Parts: sequence; structure tokens; C-alpha cells
Amino acid sequence: MATWRPTRLLVAAAGLALLAEVWFGVGLLHPTPAVVSWVAVPFVVGLAVGACLQAAGAGGMAAGAARFWRHVALGMGLIGLGAVSNGVDMFRGIARPGHVGALTSAIYVVGLAVLLWALLRIPGARRSRGEWLRFGLDSATVLVTVLTFCWHFLLSDWRTWSGDNASGARSILALLACGAVVVFAFVKIAFTGTGPLDRRALYLLASAGAVGALGGALAPLLSSRPYLNGTPTILPVTCLVLCVAADRQRRAARVAPLVPARRERPGFVSYAAVFATCVLLLGDAAMRGADILGVAVGTVILVLLVAARQVTALRDNAGLVRSLAWQAGHDSLTDLANRRLLTQHIAGALGRGHRVAVALVDIDDFKAINDDLGHATGDALLRAVAARLEELMADQPGEVRLVARLGGDEYALVFPAFDEPSALVFLGAAAGELRRPLDAAGHALVVEASVGVAVGDQETGAEELIRRADVAMYAAKVQGKGRQVAYDQAMDQRGAEQARIAAELRVALDTGQLRVFYQPIVRLGDGTPVGVEALVRWQHPERGMIRPDLFIPAAERTGLIVPVGQWVLAEACRQAAKWRRELGPDALRYVSVNVSPRQLRESGFAGRVRDELRAAGLPPACLMVEVTETAVFDGGSALDELHEVKRLGVQVALDDFGTGHSSLGLLRTCPVDVLKVDKSFVDNVTEAGARSVIAEALIGIADGLRLRAVAEGVETEEQAAALRDLGYQFAQGYLYGRPAPAGDLTTLGQASVGRVAARG
Ligand code: C2E
Ligand code: CA
Ligand code: CA
Repeated sequence: MATWRPTRLLVAAAGLALLAEVWFGVGLLHPTPAVVSWVAVPFVVGLAVGACLQAAGAGGMAAGAARFWRHVALGMGLIGLGAVSNGVDMFRGIARPGHVGALTSAIYVVGLAVLLWALLRIPGARRSRGEWLRFGLDSATVLVTVLTFCWHFLLSDWRTWSGDNASGARSILALLACGAVVVFAFVKIAFTGTGPLDRRALYLLASAGAVGALGGALAPLLSSRPYLNGTPTILPVTCLVLCVAADRQRRAARVAPLVPARRERPGFVSYAAVFATCVLLLGDAAMRGADILGVAVGTVILVLLVAARQVTALRDNAGLVRSLAWQAGHDSLTDLANRRLLTQHIAGALGRGHRVAVALVDIDDFKAINDDLGHATGDALLRAVAARLEELMADQPGEVRLVARLGGDEYALVFPAFDEPSALVFLGAAAGELRRPLDAAGHALVVEASVGVAVGDQETGAEELIRRADVAMYAAKVQGKGRQVAYDQAMDQRGAEQARIAAELRVALDTGQLRVFYQPIVRLGDGTPVGVEALVRWQHPERGMIRPDLFIPAAERTGLIVPVGQWVLAEACRQAAKWRRELGPDALRYVSVNVSPRQLRESGFAGRVRDELRAAGLPPACLMVEVTETAVFDGGSALDELHEVKRLGVQVALDDFGTGHSSLGLLRTCPVDVLKVDKSFVDNVTEAGARSVIAEALIGIADGLRLRAVAEGVETEEQAAALRDLGYQFAQGYLYGRPAPAGDLTTLGQASVGRVAARG
């Protein structure tokens, strides 16, 4: 049987079922020979068992599902056996029509028990105790309802359609057992899900049970026609439905691997059960009399109140679930969409065929505002920016438009755009609007933002669009504040180049390819060296000596500057201590080490400086750290670290002074000893003009604040003379010596640094 093609099996079952019903119809009109109807029973049951076994053996069926269908086959086989025994009983005259013998009943019961067992073992998702409890309660609700109805409509009147008490009761119990299995199947499916079983197949299966239960209900119809029997009439139909269910399951297994489905249905079934029973109770009570009616009405109202209470609780839960879902996609500070929702939204818009622009907006100098005015104001500003951005986007078509916050002071805008230039036109206007003062906790603040934008379609993809916008945004930041920059591919190449350099630099650091060169810093009057600046070099095995300009930016961007800078610091301290031991304390007053913004932001920087000084045995006063204005301008932890370094007794120099933010306020908050006046102001110091004016102004500031000024990049005697005239006392530059390896500077103790071998 199992080798039959499934479709042939179905057709055969349908044919047999049809014959059985036609024969039954004929029997209703004329007396027919009873034996004929029973002939089909073993065949049709065989077909159903075969269909179940085919489903169990289908490729791709989960182990639990296969087991279930084997059990159903077994249960059905037993019921078939019971039916045969039923038929035999009839012919041997043991049972009268409509009634069932003891052995037959026993076989039926075992068959039903097997089916019940199969249902109980449907492998679902693993469940908690509470869920089992709920399942038990729900099943009980439905069973009690069904029993109540049965009692009302069937049992209370059963004597009227069954002559014999004992066997009549038996057939009614069989009917109820069958019904219980059906009810149980529906409840189980509705409340606990079907695990790896096909949901529709299970519903069909339950319908097969319902058809079987109907067999008992035919009894009143058959009592006047003893040659007809419910079993051979109903069983073929039951078997046919079972075949269809098994076929459905077999196909489902073939279509896709079965994934355990878990679905919790709201208590619709229990409400319907309660409601139906209430109607029954009221109807019954109304017919019987006033006193019982009062109790019934009270009970019903009470039940409805409890149900209503439960409904509101469920509604609350549903609301909670919705708000949790909302939170997962939104930023709690501004109520804007978050990154997750942004990505989904872009993907959705691209999927609908839109070309969209994604712009990343980063507020410039937000950290300074946050630090100066406090976090409450900072948060208010972030909210005000969010509101302003939403205002700006209001005219964009709603199906594409989105404003999101990606955390910190970074926002994203999504809007339709044909290409980057058109997106930039919109963003330029938007940036202008954004510059209008914003109200943040009573402060009227003006913000600038760096914006990067990328435009793409479905082919580009959401993630890639965001990445491109991010790359462009970074480029905008590098170019300065308040810029809008569109993505172009060269940016990626630059990024890739930097990543490659960083990877090689990592190796260079580990294999000792880095060197420290030293450049003297001298007293302008007589050229006596007072210190040296440590400058890193990369001795590349193939490309020779690489200057820091070529790899420091990459190191900075990738964070590799932290270990590199740490290595330079250690090396410089060690070398300075060695010089002091060899040449005496006057030989060299200090070594100056460049510290990148990234290093300074790293917490514990001051502690590491202290450790290196100790390890090298160098007095703190012999070390100077050079920081740029940008590194400390943002304030915050970098400035704290710098104060900490200063407290150690280390000197602090502000590097490239005059080129960065050059906020004079910075000189009050930042613990500075030395201003290093940038080479660009030194270059033209001999000519009359703005630049020399600045060199003059800068020395004025240094003097006024009692800071030492070092003029950087002095290359000619004329420049040195002009600087001296302006009042500069210290200088550094090729005129006095190029950066050179430590070994070339051992004459440092002797007066003339001009004689130091020129390298670098
Ligand atoms: P910087 O700190 O301004 O260093 C001074 C730069 O000016 C050095 O370039 C030096 O060789 C160059 N220089 C000195 N005198 C003259 C001169 O008379 N004429 C000209 N044309 N140039 C002169 P270098 O060594 O190539 O370093 C470039 C930059 O790389 C440094 O600028 C500094 O910002 C960075 N750097 C170097 N070493 C380190 C380091 O160990 N850590 C960090 N974070 N940055 C470093
Ligand atoms: Ca420097
Ligand atoms: Ca400098």
C-alpha cells in the first residue's frame, strides 16, 4: 500500500467514500443487504493508514512529526480493527444495530487512546509551567462547555432514542470520547501551536475526528432501519478526510523544512464557550421559572464582568507589547527613529523603487557645548536639533522621508534625490536653516553641522548607503566645520590606502622598524641647545625612511597611534635619561614628545607617562608633551589628563600654535608652559605683512601670559634675526639642525649645535 502513488491513494479513498454514501442513500429509500456496506471498511481504513505512513516517511519531515503520523496510522488501524470487529458482532448477532459489543468497544477505546496520545505528544516549542497551566484551563473550559451542551441536548433525553440503557450509554460514551479527542485536537492546535506539524493538516485531522463523532449522532435516524449502520457509513468519509490531511502534511514537508511555529492565540475559543453556555443557561432558566432565572442572570453578569476584566488586562498587555516594539525602533531622548529603524526604512524605500539620499549630520563642537553648559542643556540641544531637522524635512514626500538619531550628536536624514548634486542643494539650504539660533533649556545656541551624503537605489542597498554617507561625513569633518560633502569613490580608496598603511604599521611597530629622531631646540641668542623634539620615523624595509606625515594620519584614524605614541614616549624618555647620565644634567634640559589627540583621550594617559618616567629614571621636569589646540579644545577628559600630566611636573607645549582653534580662552583653561609658533608664521617673518604681524602678536601673547615661545621651522639667519628682534628667545629649525638619530647628537653637550650632522 505504501508504494501506491499518493494521488491514486486519494482517488481510491474518495471513490470508496462516495460509494459508501450512495449505498447509504439507497438504504434510506429501500432496505438493502447489510453486509455490503461493511465490505468497504477494511479497504478504506487501509488506505488511510497508508496515507499516514506515507506522510510519516516523506522526505524533510521532522522526527517529531514523523512519529506523530506513525501514531495516527496506528490509532486509525486500531479503529479500523474495531470497525471490523463491530461488523462481525453484527453478523453474529451479538450486537443489535446502533449498539457496540464489549470487545469492539475496547478496541475502539484503545484506538482513540493512541490518537489522544499522539496529540499530546505533538512536539511544540518548549513551554513554561504557566503556559501548560493556561493550556489545561483552556482545554477544561472547552470540554466542560461541550459536555454541558451534550448533557442538555443529548444525554438528558437519551432514553427517548435508545431503547437499551447499558448499550445505549456505551454508544453515547463512545460518541463523547470521540468528541473529546476532536475538541482536544482543536484546543491543542489553537492554544499551543502545532510544532513541526502542518497547521492545516492538523485541522483536517481534527475534522476527520468530528466526522467520526457524527457517526454516533446518526443513531436516531438508523433505529428504524436495522440494516443500516453508522460505522460503515461514516468511517469511509473519516478516512477520506484523514487521507487529505496526510497528503497535505506530506506536501508541506516537501515544500520547505518545517520550522517549529509558536503562536499564542487570544482566548477567543474560551470566550465563545462562555458566551454560548451563558445563552444556554439563560434560555433554560427563562423556561423553568423566575427564581432560577434571577440566579442565572446574576451568574451570567458575574461571568461577563470577569471576562470583561480579562479583556482589559489583555488589551493592556497588547499595549505594552506595542510600546516595547516602538522602543526597539526609536531613540528615547528625541523620539526619532534609531539606526535599526533607519536601516529598515531605507531598505523599504529602496525596495519600492525609490532613489534616496542618506545624509549623516554631525553637530560640530557639540562636546564643548555639553561640557560648558552641562548635560541637561546638551540634551535639550539634541532635542531642539531633532525638532528643527523634522521641520526642515516636512516638505519631503512622507513615504521616503525620515529623520533618525544614530546616537551622540549624529543624525541621519532620508529623502528622495536623483543624484548627489541635487541632494547637496537641499542640504545646503537645510544647513542654512539649521544655523538659525535654537532654544536649548533657555540658551539660544547656534550650531553648525558637518554633513556627508550619498545617493543610491536598490542596487546600492541600505547598509552600503549608510556606510557611504558615513565616509562622506568623515571627509566633511576633515575639511573643517559646517561643510556638506557628497560621497565619491576616491574616498573609499583613500580609506583602503589608510587601512593598508595601518596594517603595515602594526607590523612595523612589532618588528622594530620605527625609529625616533631628535631635533634640537635652541636659545636664539647663542644657538645653545636647550632641548630636543622627538620625531618618529619609519624605516621601511623596501620603501626606506618614511616621514610621519605619511603614516601618522592613518595611525590616528585607526587608533594605532596609541601604541605607536606610547612607544615613542618610552623610547624618548629612555634616550633622554641616557644623555643625562652620559653628558651631565646641563647637557639637555628636556625632551619634547608629540602626543596625539587620540592618545590624550585615552583614559589613564597620565598614569602611563608617570610609569615611563619611572622606568627610564627621568625627572618629570625633563619631559615636555606637545599637544595641539584641537586635542584639548573640546575640553573633557583630554583636558583632565593634561592637568594630571602637568601635576606630575611634566611641561606642556601647545604645538602648531596659531593654526588651530586659537582660542585665547584655551590658554586659561589649559595648563601650558610653552607656545610653539607654527612655521607658517615664521616663513614670512622677514617680510612686512599680515604673517609677520601675527608672529609679533603671538610673542606678545606669550609674554603677557608668561609663557615661553618657540619659533618653529627657522631655516635662515634672516628669519632668526627677525625673530630675535621681535623678542623670541627660542627656536627650532633646519638652521640649527635637522631631526637626526640619537647617535648623531652626542655632541649636544658642546655649545654649537650648528655642527650637528644634518640629516632627516
Ligand atoms: P610637528 O610636531 O610640527 O614637528 C615639526 C615638523 O617640522 C617635523 O616634521 C620637523 O622635521 C619639521 N621641521 C623642523 N624644522 C624645520 C624646518 O626648518 N623646515 C621645515 N620645512 N621643516 C622643519 P616631521 O618630523 O616630518 O613631523 C611631521 C609631523 O608629524 C609633526 O609635526 C608631528 O605633528 C607629527 N609627528 C612626528 N612624530 C610624532 C610622534 O611621535 N607622535 C605624534 N603624535 N606625532 C608625531
Ligand atoms: Ca611637535
Ligand atoms: Ca609644530
